[in-house]
Amino acid sequence: MFHISDCKKFNRCKRLFLNDQVREKQPFVRFVRLDEAITDLAARKLHVGDHFLGKRGDDPALAIQALEQYDWLVKARFEYKDLRIKVPFLQRNGSGWRLYFLFAGLYPHADDMQFYCDTVWVLEKNGIELTDIRMIHLNADYVRQGNLNTEELFIVTDKLYNHRNNPTIDFAEAIRKSYTELDGLLERMKAADLASLPEPERKPKCASRQKCRYYHDCFPDEVREADNSILHLISSQHRYAMKKEGIGYLKDADPERIEGFLQQYAQIMADRNGGLFCDRAALLSWMEDIRYPISFLDFEWECFAVPPFDGMRPYDVLLFEYSLHILHEDGSLDHKVFLSVGDDRESLCRNLISDIPADGSLIAYNAIGAEMIRIRELAETFPEFQDELLSLNARMHDLQIPFERGVVYDVRMRGQWSLKTIMSMMDDPGYRNLEIAQGMEAVFQWRYLDREDHTEDLDKIYEDLKAYCSMDTYAMTVVYQWLKNMVKE
Ligand code: SF4
Repeated sequence: MFHISDCKKFNRCKRLFLNDQVREKQPFVRFVRLDEAITDLAARKLHVGDHFLGKRGDDPALAIQALEQYDWLVKARFEYKDLRIKVPFLQRNGSGWRLYFLFAGLYPHADDMQFYCDTVWVLEKNGIELTDIRMIHLNADYVRQGNLNTEELFIVTDKLYNHRNNPTIDFAEAIRKSYTELDGLLERMKAADLASLPEPERKPKCASRQKCRYYHDCFPDEVREADNSILHLISSQHRYAMKKEGIGYLKDADPERIEGFLQQYAQIMADRNGGLFCDRAALLSWMEDIRYPISFLDFEWECFAVPPFDGMRPYDVLLFEYSLHILHEDGSLDHKVFLSVGDDRESLCRNLISDIPADGSLIAYNAIGAEMIRIRELAETFPEFQDELLSLNARMHDLQIPFERGVVYDVRMRGQWSLKTIMSMMDDPGYRNLEIAQGMEAVFQWRYLDREDHTEDLDKIYEDLKAYCSMDTYAMTVVYQWLKNMVKE
């Protein structure tokens, strides 16, 4: 038996499909918290009455029978030629049925068209006449106040959204345009020999958008590449071709096949210089406005699909922790950390404002893409703190800028510039001995803290979370000092 996800994998890469058929399934971990049963909430919006409710493992004959007995089917399982689907909502509509897809995001686009088309294909092969096709999705403008208002939480539409997130594409028409018969594909999937994996073939789909989970199995040599390998050339379309032709190192990159990004220039110059490149004038210019005491700030947060607290919209984030290292001119460091469970945003604001010195600069890594946005959101939610919060942003500097703009590059970065990568080059144990060593792991651990059924050692989780977030700000102080020394040299 196959699911639509198997069809997508087969279309993407036969080796990926076969790997997934034979290997143990990895547990699915959500990056966004979805505590509320989204189907139940959507059912309230659709005013679903007496209905058939499908379950995992149902015999598909049950759903076919239910078509005779009910006006609504929820999560019904249908099957055709071994392709099994789960249909969010079917509503009797005149002589046929209205199909509702449920999208637990804000703007359904046409990029999941195969899923929609394959669902329609299975339903129609089961003799179900679809007289209407709609989408129900979360409403980006809904702001929670008090109990969840499911009328406002969702939008029901017959449109998909374009790249500007405007609802302009006729959903049913888009399905009809992309619709294909699946018999041939399913036969090829069934005939695929599970015992023989095809040779891996490197294509953009191996690493575009999301890196394939078998990437390192398919291309094991890549992790063994030298630090200055041409394969680490950032945003390069031609690095694999150059490698194939015998151009193995950054310093030998073909100038005709370099896109010309500043980072690429920094990478090539670093290799030519023996490993390190620094544009000292540019670095000095980035540093010249930074004043002591310097407050290094890092937030941790959780993202909720359905807003759990007042003032939050779908997919808003909830800050639950910050760490602050304060570097004084004499080299001494102070450290403060705030960590809470549940909705403690107001006291987080108060503590943040009182913990950060009134003078001096603030630094965060990826401040423009994260900390400054979070501070603006807090200022919007708590107007009483607005002036003080926005004045923090006015003093903020982004430590990522010298790396992202090719001002500094060390070949040991291997084409990456995350704080952890840079910290790993320093003469400091850094993240190596921490129980929690990744941002998402911190979020997963925090999820245990507000559960009543937890069995974990909560004190330990608290300590690990504090240690992780504190390491982020400590790492910034180390990297900042490294840059400062570079300017002096
Ligand atoms: S890395 Fe590429 S070749 Fe290997 S399984 Fe994934 S998509 Fe297929």
